[in-house]
Amino acid sequence: MGTIAVIGAGQAGLVLSAALLRAGWRVSIYSDRTAEDYLADRGRPTACLFGDQVEYEAELGLDFWPEASRMRRIHLDLFTDGGAVALSIDAPLRKAALAVDQRLKFSFGLTELESRGATVVIGAVSAEDLDRLAATHDLVVVTSGHKSLTGLFERDPTRCVHSEPQRRLFMINIHGYDMAARPQHREGVFSFLPGTVEMFWIPFHDKDVGESRSIVVETAPGGRADRFGDVTSADEGLDVLKAVVDDLLPHESAFLRPARPTSPVTWIKGEILPVVRKPVAVLPSGRHVLGLGDAVVLNDPLAGQGANNATRMARFFADELAGHDGPFTPSWLTGRFDQWWEHGRYTNDFSNGLLAPLTGAQKNVMIAASRREDIAEQLWEGFNDPSSLFPWFFDAAATREFLARRKIGQLDLLRYKLGVGAGLLAGKLFKRPVGGTATP
Ligand SMILES: Cc1cc2nc3c(=O)[nH]c(=O)nc-3n(C[C@H](O)[C@H](O)[C@H](O)COP(=O)(O)OP(=O)(O)OC[C@H]3O[C@@H](n4cnc5c(N)ncnc54)[C@H](O)[C@@H]3O)c2cc1C
Repeated sequence: MGTIAVIGAGQAGLVLSAALLRAGWRVSIYSDRTAEDYLADRGRPTACLFGDQVEYEAELGLDFWPEASRMRRIHLDLFTDGGAVALSIDAPLRKAALAVDQRLKFSFGLTELESRGATVVIGAVSAEDLDRLAATHDLVVVTSGHKSLTGLFERDPTRCVHSEPQRRLFMINIHGYDMAARPQHREGVFSFLPGTVEMFWIPFHDKDVGESRSIVVETAPGGRADRFGDVTSADEGLDVLKAVVDDLLPHESAFLRPARPTSPVTWIKGEILPVVRKPVAVLPSGRHVLGLGDAVVLNDPLAGQGANNATRMARFFADELAGHDGPFTPSWLTGRFDQWWEHGRYTNDFSNGLLAPLTGAQKNVMIAASRREDIAEQLWEGFNDPSSLFPWFFDAAATREFLARRKIGQLDLLRYKLGVGAGLLAGKLFKRPVGGTATP
């Protein structure tokens, strides 16, 4: 079996290393942080993994948190500009999702893989170091995320869709919320005000407090929720979040009001420009390295796919590398990536598709899903396997066929829409106080 240098002990790096160690490879992991550094680090992204990816991590023995709450359902509210809920979709996930603090995962993962025989080398790897490593290993794989070494990998314009970030991001981990005010938060909650904000409230296992919620806020640049730009601390960010929720998503106010940040460092703000890069970089010496994870495929986190995608890529490549007899030439590696992309591109199409405004056909699916759990369940399966949404969620003719096969015709959709309209009207007539729990 081969020798491999894996740069980065993050999601892709740890999964790839665990799989190749299991296959008998000699694995060296180059990490810019020690296991202790990870624990002392700033908060990292929510990185909720969906079913198949959770199972694969468990299969590799990388699941160290049996006590962490799984997410077994998602409840989605679609809000109107006036703060009313136009419709709700509530359905189980086919397999449970799991969001564990990456500081814990990466710290434990690094220690565990060292105990299984990986060589761990601490220090930030530079582009020059890669040449030396490429000379002494059968393959070097760069899994250093989207902030480092990405310049090595050329942007692939044929696979890129955006030239500007589409959302501004804010994330914060909280505890001390009022679960009784909104029991739906025992599971995942998504709150969307189309064109303004998408908010994801994810059951989260935080390094410091354990059971918590990680909230990812995606705002339309310049829109009514785009207020996090000046935030400089977790407390400030949470105050802004509470104000945004009071104004735009008032059903969530009572739940959020007593919440506190899980720590001063468990928050993030920024924006991401989605990009797909060529997977193989040729170094000045003529040697080459392979890139995986965010280093080559970076999506906006709107669809919660980055860590899932990193896991899927690592899994695919671990199988391909372990099953290959010859040298890992650039053309062989690029060919494997192209094969991976045949399926992997659906993750990008899903992420980019959600960044666009909902089409009429997609609205019909949402309305149908608010009435039919089987349709909602199929929709949620897209987070686990984005290919399962194609073509029916992204092609109007396929949507009609999908709904017709489930015995939902134009008349049913009209009836559902009238129901949504009547619900909104009733909501207006008996408007509840902001954040209150009064019944109409
Ligand atoms: C706000 C937010 C929320 C998100 N939520 C989700 C979600 O719910 N679900 C989901 O699937 N994805 C989510 N993501 C995306 C997800 O976190 C990333 O896509 C995923 O972690 C990428 O994995 P990776 O292995 O490519 O990189 P990383 O996990 O970032 O790992 C890279 C590792 O390399 C190390 N490193 C960097 N440079 C060097 C160097 N030069 N030498 C050595 N080591 C180095 C870093 O320390 C790091 O440990 C979210 C992202 C954001 C911003």
